[in-house]
Amino acid sequence: MEQVDLVEEIEAEYTLETPVKCGQCNKQMHSVNVIRLLRTKVNFTSSLPRRGYVVCCPDCRSIVPAGLG
Ligand SMILES: [Zn+2]
Repeated sequence: MEQVDLVEEIEAEYTLETPVKCGQCNKQMHSVNVIRLLRTKVNFTSSLPRRGYVVCCPDCRSIVPAGLG
């Protein structure tokens, strides 16, 4: 596995209007990090989008359920 610099991966940070507790590390989150997904392999007939994102806790990097509009 390739070692990557975690800081460089963060595409964006969003501040939460109200702090929420992370289900993994139990810390209060005031913001979340958004990391882009880049499709690197796909079936020819796939209708999956080319890009996506994951939202994660800035402390423990666990993926948190969230959506972007
Ligand atoms: Zn966390």
